[in-house]
Amino acid sequence: MPGYSIFEGTIADMTWPEVQAAADYNAPILVPVAVIEQHSRHLPLATDTYGAFLLCSLIQKDMAERGIQVLIAPPYYYGVNSTTAMFPGSLDISPALMRDMLVEILDNYARWGLRRQFIVNHHGDPQHNKAIVEAIQTMRAKGVETTYFLGGMIQGFVDAAYEGTFKTPLPLTGDEVLRSPESELTKAATARLTRSTGLDVHAGERETSLIMRWFPETLAGSVDRHELAAVPETLREFQEAEKAGAWRKLSPDGHIGDPAKATRDNGELYWFEAFDMAAALAAFLRARD
Ligand SMILES: [Zn+2]
Repeated sequence: MPGYSIFEGTIADMTWPEVQAAADYNAPILVPVAVIEQHSRHLPLATDTYGAFLLCSLIQKDMAERGIQVLIAPPYYYGVNSTTAMFPGSLDISPALMRDMLVEILDNYARWGLRRQFIVNHHGDPQHNKAIVEAIQTMRAKGVETTYFLGGMIQGFVDAAYEGTFKTPLPLTGDEVLRSPESELTKAATARLTRSTGLDVHAGERETSLIMRWFPETLAGSVDRHELAAVPETLREFQEAEKAGAWRKLSPDGHIGDPAKATRDNGELYWFEAFDMAAALAAFLRARD
């Protein structure tokens, strides 16, 4: 099981000869990408980083059972928080700097011989996603096989970010993007979320369940999540607040969703999403070998 350390199972805990051996064999590398961002009063700032790291860890385990070695990069967490930067704790890096940083990091991996790169992101901010997409396009122009690996909840967020903010579909084609279809198990696990507010986009039922199930030691012990009121009433209200830069006014605590509805069991959803992603990755690699 993935533990508290976001380095567990990543190349940061390997030696250089181990990295070299994996590169000689052309092992794919998963690159967790997220942010340090406010996640209401009860969840840690690194919630999205834990989410991206967890997905990569579970995918790696499932791939190992299929006999395929997959590396995980140290999580990248200096992301863009254009919508929640008004909260202390939301670390907001400019999209251009994030793009360039990602490109330099991915360039390093390519130089080591790790040229099959899969970005696993866990943050919906449109500007953050644009930085990732531009980094992928830059790497592809250099001939490196960098792919946006979309699965689970983030898939819908990325499409909505592009269509809502940039008024265009996600501008990645062919091998630049790998989408993982949802299995029946995942659909059933998603359906178990009550979604009492209709919206569960940030630090609500889903992400609270994630942390309760996988990283309980990071929960704020002094906060009773049952005392956090569900926010907001409608999607429209949320979109208007986001456009107006009024997230904090809409939700002074910082969540959009209903943390009180979270359960430890619902955090199992991440297993199912990771299974789906591993199946999609295995098929992607098989088709290109
Ligand atoms: Zn989050």
